[in-house]
Amino acid sequence: EVSMIEFKNVCKKYSNLKALDNINLTIPSSSIFGIVGKSGAGKSTLLRTINKLEKIDEGSIIVDGIDIVTLNLRQLREFRKKVAMIFQHFSLMQTKTIYKNIALPLECSGYKKSEIKTKVEELASLVGISDKLNEKPRNLSGGQCQRVAIARALTLNPKILLCDEATSALDPKTTHDILKLLKQIKEKYDITIIMVTHQMEVIKEVCDEIAILNDGILLEVGKTDELFISNNASLKELTNEEEILPKSGINIKIYFPKESSNNALITKMARDLNIDFSIVWGKLERFKENTLGSLIINIDDSELKKQQVIEYLQNRSILFDMIKGDDENA
Ligand code: ADP
Repeated sequence: EVSMIEFKNVCKKYSNLKALDNINLTIPSSSIFGIVGKSGAGKSTLLRTINKLEKIDEGSIIVDGIDIVTLNLRQLREFRKKVAMIFQHFSLMQTKTIYKNIALPLECSGYKKSEIKTKVEELASLVGISDKLNEKPRNLSGGQCQRVAIARALTLNPKILLCDEATSALDPKTTHDILKLLKQIKEKYDITIIMVTHQMEVIKEVCDEIAILNDGILLEVGKTDELFISNNASLKELTNEEEILPKSGINIKIYFPKESSNNALITKMARDLNIDFSIVWGKLERFKENTLGSLIINIDDSELKKQQVIEYLQNRSILFDMIKGDDENA
């Protein structure tokens, strides 16, 4: 894995508040990387240090081989062409046409009219708004506005796209469409996408890896599906998931890597071990292209049965957790 961004001992304060507290993090290139955490955790601050919208107090940030702390103004202007950004509320110019909105970075960089036209039309087609070029933003839906912002962000061929809650103002269907578009763009242009979001659906649908922040501290970094499947405590706190479990017996949560095998496994285990289970709780979740399932079963409170089940699952390399009942948590 080639690294695109490296944070080393990065600290940032707002007067007495530590917004970023000694962050060490590597973001691989050509990936979709999520930054998650509660409101006020420092997500936006971390994202905005990447294009130096926020300056850091200590540490270093290496972006695509460049130590951005040391850049002078002219170098910073060049550097920022590599790092595009989109926002929750799109940040379009309301009095200008969609064409003008997309063309702006090209005009500022001194491109010829004919070159600008070619590029704007190419990108408008890519994001699916070719028929809107003469409209003003107010005549477009939220999803269409974000498409315009994405087209504008791509005009100078960036290597990195920063997304700050880019789908938070959109309905679920539109969110899905925009995420699909971002994935296509990542593949087509081989760019690294970094998204700050509080939406778990977004993380599950597109993020290869995530970093979990809390109070400016990096709690966790890892592959998204692994963090979900291992029932990571920090992630669980964020998802706020309520599992109501039986107080008696033993609860065992089993994870299924594939949709197909789960029912077969449970019925087969019941037959092989001659143990009755009740199924307490189950769900299927989509992680990018994969579907993962988890199921909680309950067995009698017997040490023997418990050991039999553990052995059965371990022999088949199936991931599981023993889950305490409510009374044991008290
Ligand atoms: P998140 O994106 O996770 O919601 P932020 O990065 O926006 O968190 O903010 C992290 C912390 O820094 C919060 O406590 C916030 O109030 C504070 N903060 C953010 N920007 C400023 C600022 N410009 N001045 C003072 N405090 C700020």
